[in-house]
Amino acid sequence: MRALRLDNGRLDLVDAPVPCRAGECLVRVTMAGICGTDLEMVKGYAHFTGIIGHEFVGVVESVSRPEDRHWTGQRVVGDINIGCGVCASCRDGVKEHCEAREVLGIHGRDGAFAEYLTLPASNLHPVPDAVGDTAAVFTEPVAAACRILEQVEIGPSRHVAVLGDGRMGLLIAQVIRTAGASIVLFGKHADRKAIAHSLGLDTRDAPASPLPRADRFDVVVDATGSADGLQRALDCVRPRGTVVLKTTVRDPGTIATWPIVVEEVTIVGSRCGPFLPALDLLARGDVRVEPLVTRVTGLGDHARAFAEADGGLKVIFAVS
Ligand SMILES: [Zn+2]
Ligand SMILES: [Zn+2]
Repeated sequence: MRALRLDNGRLDLVDAPVPCRAGECLVRVTMAGICGTDLEMVKGYAHFTGIIGHEFVGVVESVSRPEDRHWTGQRVVGDINIGCGVCASCRDGVKEHCEAREVLGIHGRDGAFAEYLTLPASNLHPVPDAVGDTAAVFTEPVAAACRILEQVEIGPSRHVAVLGDGRMGLLIAQVIRTAGASIVLFGKHADRKAIAHSLGLDTRDAPASPLPRADRFDVVVDATGSADGLQRALDCVRPRGTVVLKTTVRDPGTIATWPIVVEEVTIVGSRCGPFLPALDLLARGDVRVEPLVTRVTGLGDHARAFAEADGGLKVIFAVS
């Protein structure tokens, strides 16, 4: 099969064997999206060698266990964390924190920029008919946005700011809006702010200096993708407010921590989230993703696709 393999920071289209794992389902990948994590990995984050890619939609081609037979032919998306199944985290149902976990296309297991991948049936979710393939590719990042609603109480009376008008910022702002909160998206790119505006989001220029106390927010989500995002979030949050961190960058950055203490700010790290509510939001059209698609192209066009995804919005591979 054709696959995009990362080796030592070099990405190549290679001919790879169709994967086969006992107990798992073989999925023919229809579409797969490039996300910020993929871009970071190509720059050296996670030290992964193998087929990258983890945001996908596909069709189950075959299964290895008779009890999974009903999955054959099903259009699916997949949870990217595969736990060991026996540790305390796995027993508690939080396989994303299993120390021995594998993560599709990120850690210990080949991913989705390929014609085929395998996952256990327990990781798969059927895609509702109302969600097209392009939208389904966004399930994983929308799920990551939904994670915030599990972690922080966000109701109609809350004032929430999202910093960053990139892929994640545009998804997070739409997801948080569904909770009824008033939401402001801070960005700096005219084209993306136009997209945000077309999605009905209140968008403003990123503040150059700390906001006056009266203008500060109850909850601030850092989706800037840059090392100074936390500082900028602290400049926007009210005392006893909450900062949610969605940015993963290699750069350690530096920050004065005393304002966190003095203003009693709660800092919440937030990673992977639940697929079912994400599919639900996509099916209802409460989260719209089509305006975020910059390009749909083939695996062979990977150099241009990655260049365009870096600084652009969502670039998607149409695989099969
Ligand atoms: Zn991703
Ligand atoms: Zn485990």
